[in-house]
Amino acid sequence: MPLLKTERQKEIYKLLDEREGAFKQCGAKADAENSFPYENIEELKKIGFTSLTVPKEFGGEEIPLYEMVLYLEKLGQADGSTALGLGWHLGIMMDLAERRPWQADVYKEVCEHAVKEGALLNRAATEPKTGSPTRGGKPETTAVKQSDGSWKITGRKTFTTMSPVLDYFLVAATDDETADVNEYLIPRNTNGVSIEETWDSVAMQGTGSHDLVMQDVIIPAHYLVEAKRNERKARPSGWLLHIPSVYSGIARAARNEALKFATTYSPNSIVGTISEIPNVRRLIGEIEMKLHQSRQILYTTARAWDEELENRNQMTAQLQVAKYTVTNTAIEVVDLAMRIVGARSLSAKNPLQRYYRDVRAGLHNPPMDDAVIALLAEQAIQSFK
Ligand SMILES: Cc1cc2nc3c(=O)[nH]c(=O)nc-3n(C[C@H](O)[C@H](O)[C@H](O)COP(=O)(O)OP(=O)(O)OC[C@H]3O[C@@H](n4cnc5c(N)ncnc54)[C@H](O)[C@@H]3O)c2cc1C
Repeated sequence: MPLLKTERQKEIYKLLDEREGAFKQCGAKADAENSFPYENIEELKKIGFTSLTVPKEFGGEEIPLYEMVLYLEKLGQADGSTALGLGWHLGIMMDLAERRPWQADVYKEVCEHAVKEGALLNRAATEPKTGSPTRGGKPETTAVKQSDGSWKITGRKTFTTMSPVLDYFLVAATDDETADVNEYLIPRNTNGVSIEETWDSVAMQGTGSHDLVMQDVIIPAHYLVEAKRNERKARPSGWLLHIPSVYSGIARAARNEALKFATTYSPNSIVGTISEIPNVRRLIGEIEMKLHQSRQILYTTARAWDEELENRNQMTAQLQVAKYTVTNTAIEVVDLAMRIVGARSLSAKNPLQRYYRDVRAGLHNPPMDDAVIALLAEQAIQSFK
């Protein structure tokens, strides 16, 4: 698919391409050692990746969704964990730029921090008792208003991706007086904030998605950045396409690994390589078909979000179908790639075994499959009433 259309796209893609080998190596090391890909994040900061979705007025690039998808897919091809982490940051910044829900001075401060020093933020929404916040569970993290107007936040969040390097946490907490669920901005260096290293997942190990613990954390009144979080949730969220972009990248990495193997492996039972064997060709063709279909959906949806502003409110199903299709197809593609490579794909040294583990995580990033199917059924039934 000819995806690179503008000079900027070619330039940024090239920057990522030149670093792909190093990103891959760092990601594999973080996975093998249960650590975090610090060098990848530092390098991405150096090349200005953290400010790509910050508005131009604050010195960012203000890239559209299509470009974010393009770069995250490319980064995901090198390391899924790095890409998912950066994807949360870039996606949230894009959403904030489009909606502008925060008080202007707080927003400016965070944007300028991201541009000048590569500051990173992510949402810490999941808790042990809520499970996925998309199910509507209420945070047990509390926000108590103090007599001087400041807030005292106490609670624990699980799955805090990029926790080793985040500068800001966006925390959903329940106001103990009104029972509203609001979102609060918590800078990392605030007293009472700590990270408990609980992340032991075999998938996306390098995301460092540890627990965020907040014990009597005091933040100023205006760090309640978004009141009544649930009202936001009703809106279609184009920026969430950062998730399928990453898994599409992992699938492409698996495809490349299988092709490299098939075009060089020559057992002495045949003349030439296994790429000439009909069964292997069939598997390669199936991978190409699946990737072509899922990338069409991914990029067409991103472009529609960018170009058809008047239709955005009707795009929920389209966005969710894109996430469902791309992540499930990515799992199938990695499976097919491993069938081509055979038992060697299970070697700890082979990147395919990591892709196999990593790609599964897509099922547990929002929206979940059953919710997508339920939405489609509901829309279909409503259209017949
Ligand atoms: C790699 C990775 C990175 C992540 N990064 C972040 C992050 O940065 N920030 C963040 O906040 N979260 C993050 N998450 C958490 C993620 O968004 C989910 O909250 C988490 O994966 C838990 O989802 P779950 O479906 O497994 O859990 P649950 O919601 O507990 O679901 C478990 C099972 O119960 C079922 N279930 C539970 N409740 C319901 C219900 N009400 N209706 C129907 N079925 C239900 C589900 O279908 C599922 O089968 C991350 C997750 C992963 C895997």
